[in-house]
Amino acid sequence: MRGTGCGWIDNKKKTCGVRVWAAVLLLALGLPAQGNRALAKEEELSPDPVVVVIDPGHGGDNLGAEYEDYTEKEMTLIVAKAMREELEKYEGVTVYLTREGDEELSLDERCAYAESVGADFMFCLHFNMSGEHTLFGAECWVSAFGEYYSKGYSFASIEIDMLKELGLYSRGIKTRLNGRGSDYYGILNHSVERGLPCVLIEHCHLDQENDQPFYDHDEKLRAFGRLDATAAAKYFRLRSEELGVDYSGYESLAVPVPSGVMRPDQSEPDVCMIDVTDQDMETGDVTVEVSAADYDSGMLYYTYSYDNGETFSGLQKWPDPEADTFRFTMRVPPRIVPQIVVNGYNGYDLYRTSNVVSLPSMDYKTEEELAAEQAQKEALESVSDDVEKEAGSADRRQKAELKQVDLHKTEEEPVSFSYFLGVCGVCALLVLGMVISLILILGGRHKRQRRRRRRRR
Ligand SMILES: [Zn+2]
Repeated sequence: MRGTGCGWIDNKKKTCGVRVWAAVLLLALGLPAQGNRALAKEEELSPDPVVVVIDPGHGGDNLGAEYEDYTEKEMTLIVAKAMREELEKYEGVTVYLTREGDEELSLDERCAYAESVGADFMFCLHFNMSGEHTLFGAECWVSAFGEYYSKGYSFASIEIDMLKELGLYSRGIKTRLNGRGSDYYGILNHSVERGLPCVLIEHCHLDQENDQPFYDHDEKLRAFGRLDATAAAKYFRLRSEELGVDYSGYESLAVPVPSGVMRPDQSEPDVCMIDVTDQDMETGDVTVEVSAADYDSGMLYYTYSYDNGETFSGLQKWPDPEADTFRFTMRVPPRIVPQIVVNGYNGYDLYRTSNVVSLPSMDYKTEEELAAEQAQKEALESVSDDVEKEAGSADRRQKAELKQVDLHKTEEEPVSFSYFLGVCGVCALLVLGMVISLILILGGRHKRQRRRRRRRR
């Protein structure tokens, strides 16, 4: 089956305002014939279930993007199976996958399969990678032609809003043409040939640190699948008793069917000018005001340089897609003559280089220099602490030695006592000698007295 699904019928009254708005837009764009045809088609809605085909990109020898341990063909299959599992929880929808395993299918075989099962829409799931590993964010590619553009864009606006809510940076919804003037991406080209609305979802970039947290686990890939399913359920206004959600009143963006080819933007941004509003000589912080605009595809990223474009920063997110002017602060190294320049990138990664602003050189210490000084200071303090500690321990050693000497003295006390006893012994001998001498002297005196008495007789 072709055309829109049952979800569209149940809400004719609710979509009325959207249709009127779409009709006004179509009239304003001078597209009454196609607009009427589109509206007339909606009136012929079929009550049959919506048939959705999910196409996990790549497979077999066609690995897709490869980065570190990640291989796109494996990741897209995990996302696709989770998308089917989630989408089958809704009523009024039949889901098919173009491949269930690691099969290699040509792009046309995928589209032929989708056509064979009567697909209302084909969702092609992919992951991206850039040559310089600089780009990041999610994007959707849609056909540049007629209702394939409007349906693709209408679904993609739901998908991109949900990926933004998840935290990814939006690289937008875009068309791209090949040299023959048809859709550049083969899957879009073949699906249009078979009358099949189709969208190519590049969930994020595998080779950029900004996006890595969104796919570094299988459960995160399954979360992508559930998100894709919810976006499809919103687009087809499905409801799910099991999930307890009802999108039957959901109003997706009404995108008028364009009369001509929706050509991609092939020119760089229209304007990119800068002005320096502040220069902090103490810290090296330079505040730059950027005024840039791209009237076709909008502004997407910017990079900045302080050496007149010799080297540039990595890509920075454009702060507000609605604003043409913003300010940012960059750190400029000391002891150089700063020459500030900015590249502003549009939605197709084309850039315009701004004017150059030269500034006076700044002589301040960088964080690295301050850190090195601090480290040196700490090293010196640590050395002085060691010396103090060494002195302290030497002091303690000396005191301990003195204490030991005291202890030795205490231990020598018995030696002093024996010395005392020796002295006492000597004294006792002296006293004994004196007593003996006294006895001898007295004995001698008695002998002399007896001799004198004998002579007198
Ligand atoms: Zn791919």
